Amino acid sequence: MPYGSTDYAECPRCGKRALGQSEIEQLFGYRTMESGKIIPQSHCRECRSEEVRNSSR
Ligand SMILES: [Zn+2]
Repeated sequence: MPYGSTDYAECPRCGKRALGQSEIEQLFGYRTMESGKIIPQSHCRECRSEEVRNSSR
């Protein structure tokens, strides 16, 4: 996926895709860079929560 795109996201872990800002907000969520730029999370919410769970134990 083109880096910097704000209306498309694809999870490299499970392959889930989100098209459009509302889907991205729902499935991936956004993060704000230090520069103030807002980009989609690289991994979907499910995979992020699993990784947090796995790495915390
Ligand atoms: Zn995922």
